[in-house]
Amino acid sequence: MNYKILVVCLAVFLMVLSPTAGGIIYEGQASQKREEVPFDKEELEEITVELYITSTGEKVCMDIEEYVVGVMMAEVPYNYDTEALKAMAVAIRSYALRRVSRNEKSPVHLAAHLCDDYSHCMGYISFADAENRWGKERTDVYYKTLEDAVNETEGEILRYGDCIADTVFHVSSGGFTESAQNVWGVEVPYLVSVPTPDKLPVSRRIFSSAEFCELLLDSVGTIELSGDASEWIEKIEKDDKGRVSRIIIGGKAISGRRLREIFDIDSTCFEVTCEDGNIIFDTVGKGHGVGMSMAGADAFAKSGKDYRKILEHYYPETELTLFRENT
Ligand SMILES: [Zn+2]
Repeated sequence: MNYKILVVCLAVFLMVLSPTAGGIIYEGQASQKREEVPFDKEELEEITVELYITSTGEKVCMDIEEYVVGVMMAEVPYNYDTEALKAMAVAIRSYALRRVSRNEKSPVHLAAHLCDDYSHCMGYISFADAENRWGKERTDVYYKTLEDAVNETEGEILRYGDCIADTVFHVSSGGFTESAQNVWGVEVPYLVSVPTPDKLPVSRRIFSSAEFCELLLDSVGTIELSGDASEWIEKIEKDDKGRVSRIIIGGKAISGRRLREIFDIDSTCFEVTCEDGNIIFDTVGKGHGVGMSMAGADAFAKSGKDYRKILEHYYPETELTLFRENT
């Protein structure tokens, strides 16, 4: 007999732990109290981005504006509304300059501020690589569109007080974004949960009971799973945004974040059902859910909000400013 276990996500949903879009708080930072460092305009005047290219192991240096276009090529759909593209350009520029100005380097690439791995820092595609991938004609269109958004916001960053804001972003939420406190355990005044108008894409992952069992055993060690698979999941707890905070499987409590990692599902906002011996995860949204939702920014832009309003919404209490005078 089929038996369904339902996690009913409310009309609001939130995202995952592990970042899938750029703008990531380095792992080490999550448990630490963050030290804010005021930025120095003079120092930033001649600033150069050091980028580690993961495929070749090279380090390349470039101006921030060129870097932002390359990140846009990798991370942002070129057919988004112009105001959403401009909001993304400011977020990417701010995120990168914060790292560069603080001289923050991940242990993964100590020689460079940032790498081109979207799952670690932010994705980056050079114009030449884009041409190889999409051909000259399409690349010209993509590049020109994204470059326009970068040029129209040249030099603009978000600041919080005297510091450059940590403008993390993600692919999509569904109803509400997530706070940095909930996801990384770090309280950041402008990375709080706000409503977002994203559409709600649902992705599905199906595991046979044997696969489900094996993945769990590999990750959490001993766990009591026997008998009917429909009875393995005993309890599901959700937070006030509808995200799974804890689940009890075979007598063991596992956090929603951990479960999301184990089964590589897009979000901690999921329904889990058991049908014909298969365990099925249906999830909403994609990414860690903190900061700006790219899909939400596009929806706001299409409804008439300009990029300033979009940034104000996703990063409340921050201020748009120029990090250097434009030439
Ligand atoms: Zn990196």
